Amino acid sequence: MSLANKLAEERRGRLAAERLLELKQAELSAANRKLGKHAAALQGEIVETRAEVATVKTENARVKTELGQANQKVEIAERRLWHSVQTITDGFAFFDSENHLVAANASYLAIFDKLDVIQPGVHYITILQVLTDEGIVNTGSLAAADWREMMADRWMQPEPEPITIRLWNDQYIKLVDRRGAGGDIVSLGLNITTSVIYEKELKAARAEAEAASRAKSTFLANMSHEIRTPMNGVVGMADLLGETGLSDEQQLYVDTIKNSGEALLVIINDVLDYSKIEAKKLQLHPEPFDLERSIHEVIMLLQPSARDKGLTILLDYDLFLPTAYIGDPGRFRQVMTNLMGNAVKFTAQGHVLIRVTGVSDPDNGKADVTVVIEDTGIGIPEDKTDHIFGEFNQVENERNRQFDGTGLGLAISQRLVSLMEGEIWVTSEEGMGSCFGFRIPLEMTDAKLPEQPPVPDGLRRVLVVDDVAANRTILQRQLEQMGLGVVCCASGPEALQHLTDIDLILTDHNMPDMDGLEFADAVRATGNETPILLLSSNPSVAAGDPGAQHLHAIVQKPVPRADLFARLQSVGPLIQQTAPSAEKAARRKMRVLAAEDNKTNQLVFTKMVKGADIDLKFANNGIEAVEQFSSFVPDLIFMDISMPKMDGKEATTEIREIEQETGGHVPIVALTAHALNGDDKGILAARIDHYLTKPLRKPEIHGKISDACPKDALPPFPPPALDEAG
Ligand code: ADP
Repeated sequence: MSLANKLAEERRGRLAAERLLELKQAELSAANRKLGKHAAALQGEIVETRAEVATVKTENARVKTELGQANQKVEIAERRLWHSVQTITDGFAFFDSENHLVAANASYLAIFDKLDVIQPGVHYITILQVLTDEGIVNTGSLAAADWREMMADRWMQPEPEPITIRLWNDQYIKLVDRRGAGGDIVSLGLNITTSVIYEKELKAARAEAEAASRAKSTFLANMSHEIRTPMNGVVGMADLLGETGLSDEQQLYVDTIKNSGEALLVIINDVLDYSKIEAKKLQLHPEPFDLERSIHEVIMLLQPSARDKGLTILLDYDLFLPTAYIGDPGRFRQVMTNLMGNAVKFTAQGHVLIRVTGVSDPDNGKADVTVVIEDTGIGIPEDKTDHIFGEFNQVENERNRQFDGTGLGLAISQRLVSLMEGEIWVTSEEGMGSCFGFRIPLEMTDAKLPEQPPVPDGLRRVLVVDDVAANRTILQRQLEQMGLGVVCCASGPEALQHLTDIDLILTDHNMPDMDGLEFADAVRATGNETPILLLSSNPSVAAGDPGAQHLHAIVQKPVPRADLFARLQSVGPLIQQTAPSAEKAARRKMRVLAAEDNKTNQLVFTKMVKGADIDLKFANNGIEAVEQFSSFVPDLIFMDISMPKMDGKEATTEIREIEQETGGHVPIVALTAHALNGDDKGILAARIDHYLTKPLRKPEIHGKISDACPKDALPPFPPPALDEAG
């Protein structure tokens, strides 16, 4: 290679190296610049960080101080809390989730009398063991092991029920234990000794008061029972004396004796019943009975007083409600008599309406029967409606003061209804009237709905004449239910316009302007011969009126459904004459045996059945009664309960035994001064069918005789002429 070439190459190399150097220098200075920038940035950051560190340091110092203060506060709070826990007189302890004692206050530990084992760390089971082993706890009827098991089981519950334990020294501690979220348990032991003792004292005082009240009630019950017996003679004899020929003055005296006696008896009965209920001696005697008939019996009883005041008594018995139930008819009638008696007593004009409804369930043979008694009387102020159910409570005002009464009727009714598992209530508007109601569950004897009798031939359309709208509606519903057409009129003159195409006329007796009898006269005067039934609250007065000749029959109001149906049946073939007298003559008299040792009572009884077409015999004691049962073969026996030699219950038992062999069942009606507790049971156990309480009353005796009269015997009491014709 030439020198020139070498030089040129060298120069090229040098140039390249110079270029590289320049390049590297440029890169170096670029890197230096970058480094410079970075250093500057770092410098800034360092300054910032330093400032932050300084702030954090200050903050830290502040937090430290505050933490110290907070710790101090916590310590103070803990000390105070523990101090408080220590000072409370109830026991307080804290257990961990493993059931070890963490801490307990002095009261808690006190009962352990400084036993070393009871200290923080001790297990709950050990505490129970100590309690029984050391005799600290009185486990009562439980063995120690059983008590510990019971307590341990309780302790393990998620939410243990509070429990009261009794200590050896008769202190009572109520343990209330609460489990916390982590399984810890706080246990409180409250000393409730004072309240336990107080409660015991209260119970003892209450038992004592109840015993005293029962003793008082028993005394009252016995006293009123004793008073009733002589009252029998007074009322019974006054009754009979009244039927002998007396001067007006004598009659007045006798009536006064009788009325005062009756009034006294009502009060005695109320007191007796009330005290029997209070002494828990009153029991119900369920037996089959006819609800509708029972209500009618009460209506009949109250009819005279209602009639005297010009009040109408109406009964609306739900057509679809059965009438045969099992219940205590006597007590049912008593409630009805009280409520209806009040309705009549506190009503000067208008009506008393009894509505009977119910929900029956033929599947279980039960019915819920509701009876409501509505009157248009003086009413009861709203603030007194609860008050009047209290014993001896009455509405205290001018108007009430004119009425007699003890204020016991509603209290007794309420208790009787609740004995029947029912409820009683009242709604009232002062001056407008009151509405008393009660609902009782009753068992049906025959779960079937009442059977509907066939409509008699020829009877299609009935004309109902009554000025009382409620009465018209009830009759209309009853008749329409039988498929009859009904035309209702509110007065005689109106009815005279509607006589065409009518098969039967049912008319009320007492109506303004034209009464039922005048209406009957007017109907016949038009030449119309449609049969007329008069519905009267006072049939004997109606029967004496000349207008009665136009009537097919007079029916006592309100008419029991069965009676109404029977009357309608008799209208079908039109008036039928009674059975021929030859057949009548062939019939025998009904035989009645009365077992009664007391001669005065025999006399009273004889007089009461005077005029009855019966064969009556007396037995002077139970032995004679059994003998006469076999020889006289009575159709009915009245049996006094307390008699010498053999009492009425024993005699009945013997008679029932004879009947088991011979067959048959003679109705036996017990006569008692009053059925007290035990008596009732004995009476029913002896298989006596009914019982009447003395003083005896003519209608009751007659009722029992009529009910028991066999078909082959003559009717004991000849029916009123018009009824016989009907
Ligand atoms: P008594 O009728 O013997 O006073 P009750 O206990 O039967 O006792 O009735 C208590 C009171 O309730 C009555 O005195 C009367 O003030 C009021 N009372 C009851 N029934 C009625 C009623 N149908 N109308 C208005 N007030 C009545």
